[in-house]
Amino acid sequence: MSLSPNHPQAPAPPHEHVVLNPATEEVVATVPAATAADVHAAVGRAAAAQRGWAAAAPADRARLLRRFAAVVDEHREELARLEVTEAGHTLGNARWEAGNVRDLLDYAAGGVERLAGRQIPVPGGLDVTILEPLGVVGVIAPWNFPMPIAAWGFAPALAAGNAVILKPAETTPLTALRLAELALTAGLPEHLLQVLPGAGPVAGNALVEHPGVAKIVFTGSTRVGKQIMAGCADRVKRLTLELGGKSPNIVFADADIEAAAAAAPMSFLDNTGQDCCARTRILVQRSAYDRFMELLEPAVKEVVVGDPADEATQMGPLISRLQRDRVRSYVTDGLEMFQGSAPEGPGFWFPPTVVTGVDPTAAIAAEEVFGPVAVVLPFEDEADAVRLANATEYGLSGSIWTRDVGRALRVSGAVRAGNLSVNSHSSVRYWTPFGGYRQSGLGRELGPDALTAFTETKNVFISTEA
Ligand code: NAD
Repeated sequence: MSLSPNHPQAPAPPHEHVVLNPATEEVVATVPAATAADVHAAVGRAAAAQRGWAAAAPADRARLLRRFAAVVDEHREELARLEVTEAGHTLGNARWEAGNVRDLLDYAAGGVERLAGRQIPVPGGLDVTILEPLGVVGVIAPWNFPMPIAAWGFAPALAAGNAVILKPAETTPLTALRLAELALTAGLPEHLLQVLPGAGPVAGNALVEHPGVAKIVFTGSTRVGKQIMAGCADRVKRLTLELGGKSPNIVFADADIEAAAAAAPMSFLDNTGQDCCARTRILVQRSAYDRFMELLEPAVKEVVVGDPADEATQMGPLISRLQRDRVRSYVTDGLEMFQGSAPEGPGFWFPPTVVTGVDPTAAIAAEEVFGPVAVVLPFEDEADAVRLANATEYGLSGSIWTRDVGRALRVSGAVRAGNLSVNSHSSVRYWTPFGGYRQSGLGRELGPDALTAFTETKNVFISTEA
């Protein structure tokens, strides 16, 4: 093992990342890991590309982004198969994810010519605001949704006139690298969208520290998000954080209990629970608890877990051995629970797991497990449901199941989270805003204001009296 010269105790950062298929543990690819020097060079290239891009006519930028969307669409199946291989996503999900990149680019392209400032009445002249691009934007992406989350950052950032350097997660660099190639195929200027795989503390940190990077868009763990926030604070760097969650699924006794129980399994098993919006705390009103559990258990056990490339599969493996170890550490002996099935043999498999009879403050009920694990907790009344829903440091998503419209509105108002859905588990649409309260994040992505988040507002007053 080689040792870093600066930290004699620490192993040197890897020079390459070995990408494994999480369903088989076979090596898929080996990808060079960027150093801090590589990042610095990329920032210089990006800054030069950005100047030309910002100077181009809005209609031309929009046309190129639409062409990028079209090229992604033409390669949708290839991108989806690559995601199945590197991330273990089910084929159906991966197809949706590649389509989501296309849609994000199309939506952002529609904003380029509408990104307008304002004219504000003032005495003695004309006052206008101008929305200027920030410059070079660093996007640090996680492994749980490698394509959509990267595009949540790069599509609006490019549309607003910025250049982007994307650092994908160590385990999932392949679709990001392919998207950068497709950008060139579509005719986007060279170096406008660069993808630099690398270790978080090396390549990711170099983006945070580089004075030529104007904004960081980070999605990942709250722990790393706090470090990035501290790094950005030093330079007053713009920052968006999309962090963890422990989202409630609140089921009132007056709800359609059959529908709530049928929808609950995939609300925490989709993407094998590796979803910041996963509804992993199922809160059920005590008077409906037994009926709900009677329906939930068979519904969870029916979920098809297996080869993610099989069209019928609903849940694949976890991303890595490390992630499986993390998930296992929460599911300790002696817990009251039931489990579905998972394949034996190679692959990072973990069965769907539902835990009952735990205290709301137990680690499994309070921390983000990021695996196919939910807890069910009973509550007495509306006030108790809201208290339990808010008894977390997070505040990303949540669902409310009730037939009472007034209750749905009251509880939506009282739950401290950024993305709620009533009688459904929907959270993310590219045309509606997404983001967290409290330790689930900072800022909003997606939606009608997505491009504005990648601009600086300049106010100009022009005197008419000179
Ligand atoms: P992570 O936060 O370590 O990694 C996310 C991204 O940040 C990766 O690209 C990584 O390389 C980069 N990164 C790591 N350290 C960095 C640093 N010091 N400076 C700059 N960039 C850095 O996530 P993880 O370790 O892969 O997963 C750990 C846990 O995080 C999971 O179990 C889950 O609870 C949570 N998580 C949440 C999300 C989400 O969507 N909110 C996504 C991934 C992971």
